[in-house]
Amino acid sequence: MKFVSTRGGAPEVSIGEAIRGGAAPDGGLYVPAAPVRLDPDSLPDGPLAALGARLLAPFFDGDPLAPDLPAICAEAFAFPAPLVAPGAARPNLRLLELFHGPTGAFKDFGARFLMACFDRLGGADGPLTVLVATSGDTGGAAGCAAEGRKAVRALILYPRGRVSAFQQHQLCCWGAPVAALEVEGDFDDCQHLVKAAFADPVLAAAHRLTSANSINIGRLLPQMVYLAAAALRVERETGVAPGFVLPTGNLGHAVAALWARALGLPIGPIVAATNANRTLGDWHRTGAYLPAPSLATIANAMDVGAPSNFERLALLPEPRGQLLVVERVDDDAIRDRIRREHDRSGYVLCPHSATAVEAWERLDPELQSERVWIAAATAHPYKFADVVEPLIGETLTPPPALAAILDREARVRRIPATLEALAAALAEEPAAVETA
Ligand SMILES: *Cc1c(COP(=O)(O)O)cnc(C)c1O
Repeated sequence: MKFVSTRGGAPEVSIGEAIRGGAAPDGGLYVPAAPVRLDPDSLPDGPLAALGARLLAPFFDGDPLAPDLPAICAEAFAFPAPLVAPGAARPNLRLLELFHGPTGAFKDFGARFLMACFDRLGGADGPLTVLVATSGDTGGAAGCAAEGRKAVRALILYPRGRVSAFQQHQLCCWGAPVAALEVEGDFDDCQHLVKAAFADPVLAAAHRLTSANSINIGRLLPQMVYLAAAALRVERETGVAPGFVLPTGNLGHAVAALWARALGLPIGPIVAATNANRTLGDWHRTGAYLPAPSLATIANAMDVGAPSNFERLALLPEPRGQLLVVERVDDDAIRDRIRREHDRSGYVLCPHSATAVEAWERLDPELQSERVWIAAATAHPYKFADVVEPLIGETLTPPPALAAILDREARVRRIPATLEALAAALAEEPAAVETA
């Protein structure tokens, strides 16, 4: 199995090289060179790890990582993704809870999958260094997944004063070989720094730099697995392929669902739910794709004005037709939905998950009733307690995994937003970096 760039200007590579590289050398994103088809009847019920090893095997075919795929899946899918019904009144709505991992958001799956791959790709020539610019969940999941690894280390850059207290703790609490750098600047400065480091041939080679953001195909592939598991379960139970409602910013989930449907999995219509950022909704309505600066919202992990996976979506046949609806849900509607869902069923949604439930509620009742719809619950509401608690009038208790994070000691190292400062941090031993 080979992978090519969305821009068509890079050599074909196998999955290990695509994961090691992150973006393709021509600036595009890696996609499978040829369509893959699977017989869904051949796929197992049961643990996600077993399904993952079967579902992803064609993508790893011919790569040195292939024999390790079952072990990689066992590391990545070490916690469940239950499908729950929020109250009895809406038999056709299920929530796919993707937040039972160690940092309480679905990014744990992708980060663990990616780090398990990197750890096997690092090896003889010295460790890889993952550089992550983050405004929230990605960095925490990556740090957690890299802790204790031998052949990969992680440096996480986050903007000073722009992340919540819990998020900061979750970025700064991981032991070697992980270090968090608080950058004196905003998220764009963090991203520019990471880009500048990758563009510096000396730094990139000396530290064997690689990335863990959502353009890496090693994050998309595992997202297909839990979507596939949920789809198979509902289809085997009801005889009808379920629809999906996916909260999205960078289109990671949406592309994973579209790829899974193209593989042959029983996935019906796909609805993308965004926050107030309008790039995707406008594109779906008008056909014009106009990236814009991102708008800050209370569903901040989806604050994206230029969705990085758009190139992958655009390459599919009739891209606009791939999504049934792109529903834009602004902050007032998110708050309202969190409040109403809690009043109605007692279920507590995080702001991202609330965009999906709101998008489902806005569907035509006829569409709602023709099949089961699976809305992704992407983060534990505790992570957004400051937003959620006043709306529901209750104090949230952290689940054990998040309580364990709060019990850890956090270490902060601040750097100015310059490449020199980042280079200095990169040059230090991970142990020295993390205790600085
Ligand atoms: C990252 C994230 C999203 C959006 O993911 P996409 O890659 O844009 O699909 C949604 N919810 C939460 C909680 C996230 O952390």
